[in-house]
Amino acid sequence: MRRARLTILVDALRHNLAVARSAADGRAVFAAVKADGYGHGLLTAARAFSAAGTDGFAVATPAEGLALREAGLTERLLVLQGAMTAQELDLALDHSLEVVFHDVAQLDVLESHATDLPEGALRAWIKVDTGMHRAGLSPEQVADARARLDSCAAIDPHVGLMTHFARADEPDLSATDAQIDVFRSVAAGWKGETSLCNSAALLGCETAGGDWVRPGIMLYGGNPFIFGEAAQYDLRPAMELKTQLIAVREVPRGGAIGYGGRFVAPETMPVGVASVGYGDGYPRHAPDGTPILVNGRRTQIVGRVSMDLVTIDLRGVEAQVGDEVECWGSGLAIDEIAQASGTISYELMCQVSGQLRAEARILGQS
Ligand SMILES: *Cc1c(COP(=O)(O)O)cnc(C)c1O
Repeated sequence: MRRARLTILVDALRHNLAVARSAADGRAVFAAVKADGYGHGLLTAARAFSAAGTDGFAVATPAEGLALREAGLTERLLVLQGAMTAQELDLALDHSLEVVFHDVAQLDVLESHATDLPEGALRAWIKVDTGMHRAGLSPEQVADARARLDSCAAIDPHVGLMTHFARADEPDLSATDAQIDVFRSVAAGWKGETSLCNSAALLGCETAGGDWVRPGIMLYGGNPFIFGEAAQYDLRPAMELKTQLIAVREVPRGGAIGYGGRFVAPETMPVGVASVGYGDGYPRHAPDGTPILVNGRRTQIVGRVSMDLVTIDLRGVEAQVGDEVECWGSGLAIDEIAQASGTISYELMCQVSGQLRAEARILGQS
C-alpha cells in the first residue's frame, strides 16, 4: 500500500510550455529547469519541454547543463550563473553551453584561460543589473565587459545581453518599467540577442520585449504573481503530492492535537491522521486551517505538522483509514498551501524530499 507519493503530470508540463510559447508571441523560449526542474526532476521536465518544442533550457550551473547534454538534449542551453573556473569553461565549450558573465571575476578567469580555447567556440551572455542588485554587472561596466569578450578569440562574436526582474510579480509594475528603461539604454545598438522576462514578466508585462524569454514557475503550474491564481492563465499543476489516512479517531472537546497542543478541539470531533509531514516536504509552518483534500473534499489541517504525519479536521467529511489525501495537485493549488504557510510555490516544489522525488510516478511520459 502506498503512502506519501509524488506524481508528475507530463501532459501538464507540455501544456504549460505551450501557454508560455503563445505568450512569448514569436520570442524564443529558454525553459528554466534549475533546482532539479523545480523539484519535478531535471530530465522529466526537460524531456517534456523538449517534446513541447522549447528552444532551449536555462540551468543554474554547468553541471546541470552537462546532465542535460548527457541525456541527449540538443536545444540551446543557458547557464545562468556562468562559469567560475577554467574547468567549467572547458565543460561549457565541450557541451555547447552558453555562459552568462555576471561578474568581472568571470572575465578574468576567461582571459587567463582563453589561449587554450578554440576560436569563436564559446557562446556568451552578459547579465546587466538593471535594479535587482543581486547578480549582474552594473550598466557602466557593460561596455568594458563587451570589449573584453570581443577581444577574446574564443568567444562567439554574437554576445547576448540579459537582465532579471525583481518585482515583476507585483500588481504595480513601476519598478519593472524602470528596469526595462535601464535595460533599453544599455541595449541600444547592441549586436546580439537579448533576454529579459521571467514567467511574471512574460505573462504580465507586454512591453518588456527581448529575443528570448526565460519562464520557470509557470511551466510547472505555479502562479508567478503575488495575486490571483495560476488557473486564470490556463496553467495546470504538474505536481501532485498525495497520501492516505492511516487513522481516523475522535478527539474529545478540549483535547489538544499534536506537538505544542496548537489546536484545541472546540467540540468532540473526528480527526484523520495522514502519512505525510515535513520530512516529505510538506511545510511545517502550515497553520491550522491550511486546506487539504480528503477523498476530493476540501477540509483543513488541525495541529502542528510532524515529520511524517499531519492531522486533519474530518468534521463533515466521510472518510476511513486508507482513503486518499491530496496535499496539493490538480484538486488543490500548491499556491494555496504556499500562501497559508508564508512561502511561495517555488519553495514547496523544491522542498519535496529526495526520496519522494526518486520514487515519483511519472504520468504521460512518451
Ligand atoms: C529562475 C530564473 C528564471 C525563471 O523565473 P520564474 O520566476 O520561475 O519564471 C528566469 N531568469 C533567471 C535569471 C532565473 O534565475
